[in-house]
Amino acid sequence: MAYNVNLTQTLKSLFGFDKFKGDQEAIIRNVLDGNDTFVLMPTGGGKSLCYQLPSLIMEGTAIVISPLIALMKNQVDVITNLSDVRGIAHYLNSSLNKSAIDQVKADIREGRTKLLYVAPESLTKEDNVGFLKSVKISFYAIDEAHCISEWGHDFRPEYRRIRPIINEIGAAPIIALTATATDKVRTDIKKNLAIIDANEFKSSFNRPNLYYEVRPKTKDVDKDIIKFIKLHQGKSGIIYCLSRKKVEELAAILKANDIKAAPYHAGLDSATRSQTQDDFLVEKIDVIVATIAFGMGIDKPDVRFVIHYDIPKSLEGYYQETGRAGRDGGEGLCITFYSNKDLQKLDKFMEGKPVAEQDIGRQLLQETAAYAESSVCRRKMLLHYFGENYDKENCDNCDNCIHPKRKIEAGKELVIVLKSIVGIKENFRVDYVIDFIEGRETDEIIAHKHHNLEMFGAGEDSDEKIWRPLIRQAVIAGYIRKEVENYGLLKITPEGKKYLKNPVPFMIVLDAEFNDD
Ligand code: ADP
Ligand code: ZN
Repeated sequence: MAYNVNLTQTLKSLFGFDKFKGDQEAIIRNVLDGNDTFVLMPTGGGKSLCYQLPSLIMEGTAIVISPLIALMKNQVDVITNLSDVRGIAHYLNSSLNKSAIDQVKADIREGRTKLLYVAPESLTKEDNVGFLKSVKISFYAIDEAHCISEWGHDFRPEYRRIRPIINEIGAAPIIALTATATDKVRTDIKKNLAIIDANEFKSSFNRPNLYYEVRPKTKDVDKDIIKFIKLHQGKSGIIYCLSRKKVEELAAILKANDIKAAPYHAGLDSATRSQTQDDFLVEKIDVIVATIAFGMGIDKPDVRFVIHYDIPKSLEGYYQETGRAGRDGGEGLCITFYSNKDLQKLDKFMEGKPVAEQDIGRQLLQETAAYAESSVCRRKMLLHYFGENYDKENCDNCDNCIHPKRKIEAGKELVIVLKSIVGIKENFRVDYVIDFIEGRETDEIIAHKHHNLEMFGAGEDSDEKIWRPLIRQAVIAGYIRKEVENYGLLKITPEGKKYLKNPVPFMIVLDAEFNDD
């Protein structure tokens, strides 16, 4: 069925907005046309409207799968307030009793309900599947679709059961939405939902108002943080720590220093947690010290700083967490404290886990370490991680751009790297490539008989510290590609091949040193 409606008018009359944000209109048209749709939009971009608006126009009920019960209720309230149709939006989750569920079902059966929010757990319940089979479904919206992927920052196994359940209930177009945009996650989502041919809408993930900085984490880190907060007295901020214990400790230290701070983690009871959230919103508290349990669904527009006391486990998580600063477009200072010791600690935590999980965890961690140690523009690195090309030389809003390091010429070394990768048949990861270039006779290299190749040890005369940053910067520059599916195997791109034929100077910056004291 074709829906010929004036969307701008509908937007105004239903939601009271004058115009669409970003790609919203094109996305909504795509949904109305009955196509599968994949939306990548940063937090605050306006994803919800992309399924809410078409659901109100289309025949049938749209099923919105969403991981957070609190958010569901909130969205249902918003839609309900927009309309005078009782029961136009509902949710089904474990918080409802039998009679509430019966009411929801009655409203759906009578064709009143345009939007039904469900948690994945509820969707898979036999009762609900049976009921939904009898319902006319306009489309399925999968919100926070990155929960499908182990490569994302918030993996939920039950999200992997969504597609089979949809098949059982009855196919309808799918719109998947996420603020997570790495290639790995994107591929995972599309494969898992079987929407490989979905039309994709990707907005820029650049947040120009966020300032990124990485500082060495020394034994004085607490003092550094206190000094920073005092410098920004009265402003709202979030400090992320990895452990509950650290959250408690640091919050106590801040309080002892006359800072209005409170701890927040999943170990606190829910009354305390919601009190803390409220106090933060009304600014009775300036600083929340939290584990990553704090954030999803928090919408305080004027958070002025986000500090990472410990390095995040993935760049994905880092982006989401720092993204909570400056949502109003104003200043947002993102400061990360980094040390090699922390990195090793996190690496060690991984040892007890299943091998596949360890492998993923380590790679994600390596990406974060590379980001922290690099002297390249942070924004450029982050956006590159999300598959986006940032073509300005200098962003003027990160530590590396404000205090640039001297660049060195590494054209000769780049040739060595490219030739080595070709020599070992583009089938190895960065550590192996560096061992090979450095001429280290590791068991693995000997097993592959690579110590007999011409390029083995070709980089012996260069400074050892050059290879890692060089390879990373060659990836950003597009000479080397890091395989997504195959755990980071290094491959040469067509540009890399051209470079080998006609090498030109290649300027790079060495990494910063983060030695522990
Ligand atoms: P996301 O889910 O992408 O984080 P939301 O859907 O919560 O973003 O939208 C973010 C904010 O933008 C909300 O306050 C929403 O009401 C507002 N918004 C969405 N679309 C528009 C629009 N076309 N015009 C003005 N405000 C909008
Ligand atoms: Zn920069």
